[in-house]
Amino acid sequence: MLLTIKVKLYPNEQQEKALLETIERFNEACDYISKIAWSTRTFGKVGIQKIVYYDVREKYNLSAQMVVRAIGKVAESYRVDKTCQHEFNKHGAIVYDQRILTFKASDEVSILTLEGRERITIKYGEYCPLDMERVKGQADLIYHNNTFYLMVVVDVPDADPIDPDGVMGVDMGIVNIATTSDGEVFSGKKCTEVRQRYSALKARLQSVGTYSAKKHLKKISGKERRFKKDTNHCIAKAIVQTAKDTNRAIAIENLKGIRTNSTVNKAVRTAIGKWAFDELGNFLKYKATLAGIPVFEIDPKNTSRECSVCGHIDKKNRKTQAEFCCVKCGHQENADINASKNISLRGICQLSHRPLAY
Ligand SMILES: [Zn+2]
Repeated sequence: MLLTIKVKLYPNEQQEKALLETIERFNEACDYISKIAWSTRTFGKVGIQKIVYYDVREKYNLSAQMVVRAIGKVAESYRVDKTCQHEFNKHGAIVYDQRILTFKASDEVSILTLEGRERITIKYGEYCPLDMERVKGQADLIYHNNTFYLMVVVDVPDADPIDPDGVMGVDMGIVNIATTSDGEVFSGKKCTEVRQRYSALKARLQSVGTYSAKKHLKKISGKERRFKKDTNHCIAKAIVQTAKDTNRAIAIENLKGIRTNSTVNKAVRTAIGKWAFDELGNFLKYKATLAGIPVFEIDPKNTSRECSVCGHIDKKNRKTQAEFCCVKCGHQENADINASKNISLRGICQLSHRPLAY
C-alpha cells in the first residue's frame, strides 16, 4: 500500500539558511521559466528545456537536476491551466528525486542545497521504523510555519491477513462520530465545540469581508480541517487496535450510504455540520489493511431501525436520536450501539460467505 509520510527536518542554523535560500531561488527560477514559457507559448517540458535550460543554470546557479525539476514544476502547472501566466509562491515546494535526495539512515537525509549536499536530521510519525528501501520515487520539500518537511511516498507492505474470530461493527454518525458494537462511543462533543467556535468566528469574519479577515478565515479553515483529520486518525487508530487485540474483522456501512439521520433535526445538523465520514472510513481501511484486518462494507439499509436482538424492523423502534426501543420484543439500548451491533451481524454474514482461499 502506498502511503505519503510527512517527515520533519531538523536543520542546524546554517542548514536552515541554505534550505531557505534554495527554496526561494528555486521558485524565483520557476517564475522566470514561467515568464518565458508564457511569452513564447511553450508549455511542454521538452520545449521549455530547449529554450531556457542553460540560461536558467547560469542565471540562478542551480544544479542540472534542480533546473530540470523547476522546468518540470512549471510545465506541470501549465498542463492544468494555460489561460494566464503562472507565478509561484516564494516558498512553494521543490520536488526532489533520488539523485538529489537520499535517506542515509532512519534519522538522516542527504539533500542538495545551493551550498552543496547537506546531511540533515529527520523525524517522522507513527510508521517507524521506516524502511527507506521502500521509499518510492520523489519527495516534496515543503516549508510551512517556519518548518521544513519532506512529503515522502512509501510502499508499506500489507500485513498477513488475520483469520478473524468475529466482526466488530462500527457505526458512524453525526452526534457520535463512531460507535462500536462493544459499546465504545467516540463522541462528537469535543468536535462540536470546536466547530461551533469556528463557525461563530467564521460568520463574524465573513461579515467583515476585508482582505485580512479573508486571510484569517482561510487560516482557521485550515486549522479546523486539521483538527478533524487528527480526530479521525485517533478514532481509526483506536478502533483498529481493539480489532487487532481481539482478533476480529471490522464492519462499516458502505461509505456511500452514510445516513444523515432524520431523527436529528436540521438545525443541529447544520450546526454540527457534515463530519468527514469518508475520511474516517478511509483511515479505518488503510490502518486495518496495514494490520492485516479485513474490513467489510455492509449495506446500510435499516441498520438504525432494526432490532439487534429479534431482527424486527420498524421506524417506531427508534424513539429519538439516542434511544432505541423495540416495539416487538422490548429490547432497549443506545441507538448507535444497537446500529453498530446490526453492522457487526451483517459483517459476520460476509465473513461466513467468504471464499476459503482468503
Ligand atoms: Zn426486538
